[in-house]
Amino acid sequence: MARNSQEIISLFKESVIPNYTRYPVALVRGDGPWVWDAEGNRYLDFFPGWGCNLFGHCPKPVVKAIQEQAARLIHIPNSWYTEEQGVWAKMLCDRSFHGQAFFCNSGTEANEAAIKLVRLHFAAEHRYKIITFQGAFHGRTMGSISATGQAKYHQGIEPLLPGFTYVPFGDLAATEAAIDDETAAIMVEPIQGEGGVRIPPEGFLAGLRKLCDEKNLLLVFDEVQAGCARTGHWFAYQYFGVEPDVMTLAKAIASGVAAGAMLTKKEIAPSLRPGMHASTFGGNPLAAAAGIATIKMVEEEGLLEKGKLMAKHVKSRLDAMAESIDLIQEIRVVGTMIGIELRIEGAPFVEACMKKGLLINCTHGNVIRLLPAVNTPLDVMDQGLDIIEEAFRKGVTS
Ligand SMILES: *Cc1c(COP(=O)(O)O)cnc(C)c1O
Repeated sequence: MARNSQEIISLFKESVIPNYTRYPVALVRGDGPWVWDAEGNRYLDFFPGWGCNLFGHCPKPVVKAIQEQAARLIHIPNSWYTEEQGVWAKMLCDRSFHGQAFFCNSGTEANEAAIKLVRLHFAAEHRYKIITFQGAFHGRTMGSISATGQAKYHQGIEPLLPGFTYVPFGDLAATEAAIDDETAAIMVEPIQGEGGVRIPPEGFLAGLRKLCDEKNLLLVFDEVQAGCARTGHWFAYQYFGVEPDVMTLAKAIASGVAAGAMLTKKEIAPSLRPGMHASTFGGNPLAAAAGIATIKMVEEEGLLEKGKLMAKHVKSRLDAMAESIDLIQEIRVVGTMIGIELRIEGAPFVEACMKKGLLINCTHGNVIRLLPAVNTPLDVMDQGLDIIEEAFRKGVTS
């Protein structure tokens, strides 16, 4: 395996469906906050694994657990019990609301499970509608994309799954007005990720909780991006102090191994009854071993604390930049979920930073999004922030 980037790109041109916009670089190796391309160039990665590598590339305790597990048992189906899945579920439930877990392989699947759970739970009452929010992102399968309140993702694939109503994020009155006799749940990202790292207004999530309690609806938090230590807490709902009935997880849950989970309260869980939902790969021993090792690593290495310290450091640096750089509109930081809203398009800055060896992301057109590994040393964070600051100061023409 020693092709250069151009040769690898040719393979893709010939044999991979071109449904992604990709940078013209093939990555071959990663270590902590660093990745290398096929030409041996090193990049500092402030967007590792699109949020999946929250603990850096190839964290050693997870690599070791995967290697050991792979030699013992890679996959067996859910017609058997495995200790790994049981332990992983208990570790997640112990750290959240002491419910029960269903495992799958991605964020969109976790949300599909949540949608089916909601419908099954209220089937006898003929309630199936779910209120979601404009700017949300819940995944790409037909149920989750129907839940996603962004028209640009719907063009050409309609008709969507019926039953979703989109209301403005942060608008409690509009949410309440959207509830009718067939409404079953409210589904929300506690912090909108893809929608531009949007933090809900004070009291919004608590208000949703209250509405759900009053109207007997389930409150579903999509924590696929904001969960699993991203906020400096195990789960984003703990950061906000508002507990959901259902929570979906994926991205960083197993340090980059494909995995997802839906957690719900013990009294709701039986609605997802045998025969009504399943996943062949979900909760397989390899993913479970990676998930267990991830939780242990976070606690043994004090990574929740590190996330809070990193947030403070990054916030103060970005706030200082915002004071003297006019094109910065707003800085939003929770843990290692970082949004820099610009007054202009962000894409040119992603290009400029990549030329300087820094990988970042732009979402929603004008929001520079950073999801750095929580264990990135602060002096390395500063190296990257210096590159970003220089790019902002030079402006788009650089
Ligand atoms: C990434 C993401 C998803 C989809 O996850 P996949 O693993 O790509 O299916 C769903 N919800 C949120 C909030 C996400 O950030």
